[in-house]
Amino acid sequence: MPLEEYARKRDFSRTPEPGADAVDDAHASAPADDSPRLRYVVQKHAASQLHYDFRLEWDGVLLSWAVPKGPSLDPADKRLAVQVEDHPLDYADFEGTIPAEEYGGGTVMVWDRGTYTPRGDIGEMHAGGSIKIDLQGEKLEGGFALVRMKRRPGETRDNWLLIKERDDHVRPRDAYDVLVERPDSVVTGRSIDAIAEG
Ligand code: MN
Repeated sequence: MPLEEYARKRDFSRTPEPGADAVDDAHASAPADDSPRLRYVVQKHAASQLHYDFRLEWDGVLLSWAVPKGPSLDPADKRLAVQVEDHPLDYADFEGTIPAEEYGGGTVMVWDRGTYTPRGDIGEMHAGGSIKIDLQGEKLEGGFALVRMKRRPGETRDNWLLIKERDDHVRPRDAYDVLVERPDSVVTGRSIDAIAEG
C-alpha cells in the first residue's frame, strides 16, 4: 500500500487534495516503452514555510521531495530536497488551498509541469541514492541530479540535494532566477495570492 502514509496524514473530508485511491487510468495502464514519458511536476506550496514540492512519476505514484529554497537552473546551487511521502498521480493537477488547520495547510500552485526521462532504472537509481534525469518542463529543462546524503542520527527523512547539470539550459542565477522571473502557475497563470482568494 504505497500511499498509506499519504492517506494517514490527511482527512479527506476536510482537505480538497486527491484521495489516496485516485487512479489515473491512462497512466496506470501505460505500456512498457523504451523511452517512457513520465510525469514531472513542481508545486509551489505556501504552507507555514514557503517551499516547492518536486515530484516524479514512478511505478504508479509521485516520488516527492520538499525543496525549501526551490529548484535552480544554476549548477552552483545545491538545493536541499527532503524526501516526503509518495503522492497519488492525480496530485500533479492539484491547485488550491488546504485548510490552515489541516496537514500541509496553505495554498498549492502547479508551478511547473511536463515530462521527464530517467537516465536508467529509477528504482535502482533511487535505491543507490543518485537519480539522474532529463526534464522537459515549461520552466525547468535539461539534466538534473538528485543525490542522497547520508542520514544523521535522529533524522527520520532522507535529505537529498537537487542539482542542475551543465548543459544548454543552465542559467546563472545572478542573471536569471527562474523562481523570481516565472513565479506564477503554469496552468492558470495565477499567483499564490490569486489562488488563495479562490
Ligand atoms: Mn508541500
